[in-house]
Amino acid sequence: MSEQSNGKQVVVIGGGPGGYAAAFMAADLGLDVTIIDLEPNPGGVCLYRGCIPSKALLHCAKIINDAEEAEHWGIKFGKPKIDLDKMREGKNSVVAKMTGGLGQLCKARRIQYVQGRANFEESRLVKVTSESGKEQMIKTDYTILAAGSRPATIPDLLIESERVMNSTSALQIPEIPKSLLVIGGGYIGLEIGSVYAALGTKVTVVEMTDGLLPGADRDLVNILAKRMSTIFHKILLQTKVKGLSEDADGIVVTLEDAQGKSRKEKFDRVLVSIGRRPNSSGLGLNNTGVTVNSKGFVEVDLQRRTSDPHIFAIGDIAGEPMLAHKASHEGRIAAEVIAGNNVAFEPRAIPAVVFTDPELAWCGLTEAQATAEGREVEIARFPWGASGRASTLNRSDGLTKLITDPTSGQVLGVGIVGPGAGELISQGVLAIEMGATASDVGLSIHPHPTLSETIMETADLIFGHGTHIYKPKK
Ligand SMILES: Cc1cc2nc3c(=O)[nH]c(=O)nc-3n(C[C@H](O)[C@H](O)[C@H](O)COP(=O)(O)OP(=O)(O)OC[C@H]3O[C@@H](n4cnc5c(N)ncnc54)[C@H](O)[C@@H]3O)c2cc1C
Repeated sequence: MSEQSNGKQVVVIGGGPGGYAAAFMAADLGLDVTIIDLEPNPGGVCLYRGCIPSKALLHCAKIINDAEEAEHWGIKFGKPKIDLDKMREGKNSVVAKMTGGLGQLCKARRIQYVQGRANFEESRLVKVTSESGKEQMIKTDYTILAAGSRPATIPDLLIESERVMNSTSALQIPEIPKSLLVIGGGYIGLEIGSVYAALGTKVTVVEMTDGLLPGADRDLVNILAKRMSTIFHKILLQTKVKGLSEDADGIVVTLEDAQGKSRKEKFDRVLVSIGRRPNSSGLGLNNTGVTVNSKGFVEVDLQRRTSDPHIFAIGDIAGEPMLAHKASHEGRIAAEVIAGNNVAFEPRAIPAVVFTDPELAWCGLTEAQATAEGREVEIARFPWGASGRASTLNRSDGLTKLITDPTSGQVLGVGIVGPGAGELISQGVLAIEMGATASDVGLSIHPHPTLSETIMETADLIFGHGTHIYKPKK
């Protein structure tokens, strides 16, 4: 029981970045909180098998790639010797440290943590079944549903084989395969594919649509795709996987191109990364008033209330974008609403980051969206060839882009591709959330020499006054 308890019992189903952020906020606001999760500590997909382990491995990939690229500066390292067990151990210890820390934070906040599978008996009654089959009933005033998502599968391609991996098994890096087919050119496939490529695997990416990373602007993606084509063995666009079968030494994949011509190719391993599905089944939601839409997402309003007055939903289970930071913010809003605060989840900009090399990040309005909505916008692009800092990194292949409102000058969207784009994008989020104009951004003095200057210079380009690019306004 929380010391300053106001008596309201809140159960949080799912201890991911949505669930634990909600639980911590609820406890801080004086509510009595219980988290139910299958894992021994909070963390969810993000910590156990998502963001954190993938970024730890991408860090290893970066070290390998940086060492290779040091040759440009006359520094030559030998071929790296990879101790896979140690790499796995390093990644696992990051996960253990972070999830253990969250367990401590639960205790410090006097949150009850129950390990098991939750199922609604009624709107205000949750049954928890432990791994050993022991059951307990928990009564609740409110439940925050944060059960997350799982990798999507293609039923026609399901074969029982260790060689066919999803993101969870691929992050275990069971071995360094000679060849790997990544099915799906979204962010998870590209990130995990980049790790295996750095370790020496010949990686082929197959994508059904005509480009990588659907959803991001093509001018940004093109830069990423150019470099990816040097890292990956092959990128096959407009190509479908029609069948998988296993033989003695690999997975035989039937690929069909845009013209409908099919062929077979063999790979040591296959990673299926075709998206994620919300975990809205198997929770007993039929015993509640919660509505689930045709895509499996729980329907919520701006305050993250479901159609059942006792149940809120947040994170991956409550809709796109399926990102950890979106889940956390929604979780904190739901907790505040339950505590009686009049708040809503109304972000102007949710950043998306692809942690490949180069990184690709965007927030707010994209150019594609503006075009689709017939919205008039002003767009400026600053190629990193004109950035001193990018040159010192031998990485002139980046691009910073600003999308503004032509009347008010307000920043509506920012897109960045280049090393560190994931860190730089927060500046775009702040500008959009604060209603900053291009002139506000241009007048803010940025430190030199940094990649952040590219954001300032892009803003100056809106007025045709870039220092390092001569592009007068017509
Ligand atoms: C490989 C990979 C890389 C990713 N990288 C990034 C990234 O870089 N940045 C980013 O923002 N996002 C990333 N994501 C997405 C991110 O992990 C999710 O958006 C985020 O974890 C969603 O948080 P959540 O709280 O909604 O649920 P989850 O993190 O999915 O947690 C849900 C929890 O609920 C538990 N649960 C489910 N059902 C029950 C039940 N019936 N009873 C009890 N417990 C239950 C699960 O065990 C799980 O612990 C990545 C995902 C993957 C797979």
